[in-house]
Amino acid sequence: MLVSNILFVVAGLLLGIAFKGGMFLFLIPFAGVAAALGYMNLPRVPGGKTSSIPVVTRAMRATGLSPAVAPEVRNMIKDESAEYNEPNSTLKVNQVWARVDADIGKSTGDLLQGLKRVIPNAHSLLLFMPSKNPKEWSVRSHSCDPNTQIATDVRITENSGILSQLMKPDMDRLLEGDLMGGRSLQYYIDNPMIKSLVAVPILDRSKNRVGALVVDSLFPNAFNQATAQALTYICSNIYTLCFKSYSSAKNYVEQQQFSVLYHYQHQFFKTMSVKDIYRQIEEYLKENFYFDRMMLLAMDRKDDTQLRKDRTGRVVCCLGIDADQFMGKTFTLSDVGLAILPFVNNRSIERTFGMGINQYIPRINSQEKKNMDFRQLFAMPIITDASGEVTELVICLESRMAGRYMEHDMELLKAFAGVAGFAYARACQFEQGKDLATRDGLTGLINHRTLHENLRTEKIRADRQKYNIGVLMMDIDHFKSVNDTYGHQIGDVVIKGIAKAISGEIRKEIDTVARYGGEEFVVGLVDTTPEGMIETAERIRKAVSLMEVDVHQAEPLRVTISIGAFLVEPSFHDMKKAVNYADQALYKAKEGGRNQVIQYTELPIDTSEKEV
Ligand code: GH3
Ligand code: MG
Ligand code: MG
Repeated sequence: MLVSNILFVVAGLLLGIAFKGGMFLFLIPFAGVAAALGYMNLPRVPGGKTSSIPVVTRAMRATGLSPAVAPEVRNMIKDESAEYNEPNSTLKVNQVWARVDADIGKSTGDLLQGLKRVIPNAHSLLLFMPSKNPKEWSVRSHSCDPNTQIATDVRITENSGILSQLMKPDMDRLLEGDLMGGRSLQYYIDNPMIKSLVAVPILDRSKNRVGALVVDSLFPNAFNQATAQALTYICSNIYTLCFKSYSSAKNYVEQQQFSVLYHYQHQFFKTMSVKDIYRQIEEYLKENFYFDRMMLLAMDRKDDTQLRKDRTGRVVCCLGIDADQFMGKTFTLSDVGLAILPFVNNRSIERTFGMGINQYIPRINSQEKKNMDFRQLFAMPIITDASGEVTELVICLESRMAGRYMEHDMELLKAFAGVAGFAYARACQFEQGKDLATRDGLTGLINHRTLHENLRTEKIRADRQKYNIGVLMMDIDHFKSVNDTYGHQIGDVVIKGIAKAISGEIRKEIDTVARYGGEEFVVGLVDTTPEGMIETAERIRKAVSLMEVDVHQAEPLRVTISIGAFLVEPSFHDMKKAVNYADQALYKAKEGGRNQVIQYTELPIDTSEKEV
């Protein structure tokens, strides 16, 4: 009578909690079970026959309860060693799992405590669930006398002890009434004289065994089939509790992931620049992942014509330990590093490194600094084509903590990689298209049209800041005879060489150089003086005259150029005319014997309107 009263109170309590917060509605079945148990009042048959009753069920592969990550998460939360990057994002997936884990621990612990009170003569109650591996169950919750010690690190595996029988596909309960303390139970440290045991498996929706509920007693024949049956009902509810909790957490995480991804997708599509995409990937990783080192590797885009294995790439972004060693590092696809592997096989890789192992596995190649502190590496390819066979970027995350990156991290990064790949391909295509329209294919210099655009914009800035722009027009001397003597191909080599020589003599990213016509070049010198302009022109002229082109003859080919110069002072506004004056000076240089610099000196009468 007393027992049934308590059970009805438990049922009432569970119902209370269930309706207090909508989140706990899944406790209703528990209340139902408690009420049923109360109604049954657990009839005992003293001295009744006890046995293990095998019941044939479908043999199926046991799978864990949703994300079987709880123990690792617990370890991780305990770890206090700071990592280089701690994500700022509200999406701290690990913490969500840890919270669910704690909630489940509390609910199941309370449930066992309640059951202990209502099952007559129960000594200890234990709930086993999978730890890492579905075939290895560990103690999830327990309730026992304060004087009894449970070995909470015990594992039930297929070949260990009496409880392992529950892993067999045909066992639906264990009911032992006459153990006489003769069989030791692994989960005790102090090994009390256990006489009875009832245990049932926890089954998931597909009837896979994912744990067990165990009750023991110091009295013989303490339990009967009705107890086993009641425990079976409870197990089904425990499964529902865990499953619902994990799946609601999973839904929450997925919702968060979706909104973060949506945000980045939005960011990505605001830009057409490859460099911006690198920056956004870096920002995303910083926001969302723990790491001690992060690298972004990119294949070089210019050498499309090369064989795949000869293609080169470089580390375009690196943060964390030894970042300066890795930033900008170049590689080819035949290098052996772990971070390069995803470029080769288009698949992500995960590696955990042991503590005492001396062998270092290169990340890029064997010349890099060998740091043995890392315990886990995770590298994700960013695939950029629809067929899924071209990886142009790889994200590589490393941690000094083993078990840092888990399945959900990989899923998250994979989803991000999909969005990033699409955006990257789009930016590359845009930049390539832009290059085709603005640049010359042979030399890579900007073309005639782009030069005029650049000069116009530069002039606006020069007017604001009141400085001069030097315009140099240059033409190769007697180039026809080079073509005639050595052929057009050598002629092209000469043009490329001259483009390089000119670029080497001006300030990168400040001055402009264009291939203006077939063998004519124009340079725009920003913020220069008359002397500075002539000096630069002379430097270019000399550099070209010293250039040697191998033509497979005793003597290398040497060429010269003539240069016409014109200084655009703030009072002069027509940049087209400026180029024209430089051309007139070039003509004079040709007339004057070539291989020389002539400045347009005659003061032009500029009557034109300010041109923008
Ligand atoms: P000058 O010293 O007076 O400049 O004599 P030149 O022979 O260089 O005469 P000009 O500048 O008129 O010669 C232009 C020649 O440059 C004609 C053309 O065959 C050659 N050329 C123009 N574009 C290219 C090119 O892309 N490749 C090659 N190989 N030759 C080119
Ligand atoms: Mg010419
Ligand atoms: Mg010429």
